[in-house]
Amino acid sequence: MQLFDPRTVIVLTGIMSGMMALVLNSLRRSYPQSIRGLKQWSLALSILFLAGGLTAGRGFIPDLLSLSLSNFLLFYGLYIAYAGTQLFFGQKPHPTVWLALIAAVVLFQAWYTYVAPSYAMRLHSANLIISCLFGSHAWLVSRQGTTTFSRRLVFAVMVTMTLVPLVRLLTASIAPTGDDVLSDSPFQLLYVTSFALSVLLFSIGAVLMATDQLRGELEHLATHDSLTNALNRRRMNEHCQQELDRSKRSGRSLAVLVMDLDHFKAINDTHGHQAGDKVLVDFVAKVQSLLRQPDRLGRFGGEEFVVLLPETGLDDAVAVAERIRQVSAVAGEGPSCSVSIGVSESLSTGDSIEALLARADAAMYRSKANGRNRVEIA
Ligand code: GH3
Ligand code: MG
Ligand code: MG
Repeated sequence: MQLFDPRTVIVLTGIMSGMMALVLNSLRRSYPQSIRGLKQWSLALSILFLAGGLTAGRGFIPDLLSLSLSNFLLFYGLYIAYAGTQLFFGQKPHPTVWLALIAAVVLFQAWYTYVAPSYAMRLHSANLIISCLFGSHAWLVSRQGTTTFSRRLVFAVMVTMTLVPLVRLLTASIAPTGDDVLSDSPFQLLYVTSFALSVLLFSIGAVLMATDQLRGELEHLATHDSLTNALNRRRMNEHCQQELDRSKRSGRSLAVLVMDLDHFKAINDTHGHQAGDKVLVDFVAKVQSLLRQPDRLGRFGGEEFVVLLPETGLDDAVAVAERIRQVSAVAGEGPSCSVSIGVSESLSTGDSIEALLARADAAMYRSKANGRNRVEIA
């Protein structure tokens, strides 16, 4: 007498899939559209819910439903989960190839159900395609980098579920397969239970991945300027403070550039506000392309920007500023706009971020006063 039989486990798996489908669907409705894949994940779990119900009905409903349709739904559900993860990572699913493969397996199984009944052949073919589906899913997640707990969780589930069917396939001669999906063999129970756990853990992993993504997006919104994608003033101030603290510890100086576009109002007035926006976006792109990895660019106000140059002396900072001044004056697709830049370097003792920025700001105003399109040193 066993505590559980496969039918109970399959029924519970189906119910759990249905519940997790509802959870993912509610996330889909409340999360921003930019987080893709939630719809497919929810759909996949709904399909597994149906597959579970049909499989559990084995013996009570026709084989066509409890075997052929339920297997089709099982494979299709696993495929849709994979397609959801592809969309989540911004990839394009290729349904035709997978649907053809799934159809081939279902037909192969139909032969071994209705023409030459063989549970072993059905089980082996199911194991192969299930392993392929989970394996592709694991490969997809690993290629995106298992950098977060949620991705590692999904990856671990996928790898386990790639191996379980393979082991089942390879050990078919040692571990008896039983004669039906609902047979009482302990191996069958282990197999069905591992599937149940994988559905639960995958659902949790998917929810966490979506939440991680949402948190990343919100963090980006809170720290970046939405027009130019430069850092916003608050985040820039934090960076400046961190770098100043670091420079005090290391004894290496830090430089800042305060930059203000020249006669920018005239661009808005002559070419319109949108053209002005485009100039701002292009300016940021040009400056970013000139900066090193640790350098930071922030938008402090309308057409005023600050560059933070860690571990940089005055001469190097002036060279960077001069390059920025030169590329800005060159006309691109839209109207060109020169820039006036003030450069300041941190003092070895008792300097503050406010003072450092104020010196660069004063130098910038001097370059305005001296005719614009200039670099002045504090
Ligand atoms: P100066 O050389 O003295 O700096 O002259 P300026 O025209 O650049 O300076 P002013 O401060 O008079 O004008 C800045 C203009 O920038 C006014 C404002 O309408 C415009 N501006 C601020 N933010 C934005 C923005 O996000 N988009 C656009 N298109 N214009 C903006
Ligand atoms: Mg200006
Ligand atoms: Mg200004």
